[in-house]
Amino acid sequence: MQFFAPPVEHLIEEFAKLPGIGQKTAQRLAFYIMNQPKETAESFAKALLDAKSNVYTCKICQNLTDSEICPICKNANRDRSVICVVTDPKDVIAFERTREFRGLYHVLHGTISPLNGIGPDDIRIKELLKRVADENEDVKEVIIATNPDTEGEATAMYLSRILKPFGIKITRLAYGMPVGGHLEYVDEVTLKRALEGRREI
Ligand code: ZN
Repeated sequence: MQFFAPPVEHLIEEFAKLPGIGQKTAQRLAFYIMNQPKETAESFAKALLDAKSNVYTCKICQNLTDSEICPICKNANRDRSVICVVTDPKDVIAFERTREFRGLYHVLHGTISPLNGIGPDDIRIKELLKRVADENEDVKEVIIATNPDTEGEATAMYLSRILKPFGIKITRLAYGMPVGGHLEYVDEVTLKRALEGRREI
């Protein structure tokens, strides 16, 4: 049954597709937009489209960026021999906040999750292997910083297995990180300690 005019109903539906937004919140957001001047709605719509059409994934680390190569990969002061592998772009921000890590990143854009039909080919693992295999990159250590939950652990195990033949150091963040937790919610001090105490796997 439809309670609202079809365009409003449609807007609610679109909001409800966003992660973490339930039906009630979707309604609240839709009505908020309806109560704003037209310019606010236009500026919001434009921001959505701009972000989608002007953001690319960095050719090297796969992080989101507005240029071909992201500022971190471009930075000559970063240690290119260490790659920290994370699940998504938010995790890069979490590490950058600690100001502790001076290497490069690799963003997987997901974790292996057989239950959800996500296999190794569905995330950016091939791109990581290419970097590690590239002699010019001279990678010496890969720190696997996937989340310490079931899928993150499974992904870490898989990565460690396929990276072993390259003869590089493979490390995993130390615990002290809440098990089942997500990197983006971990405070800077804990994350800094987890990085310092990383162990070889
Ligand atoms: Zn990059």
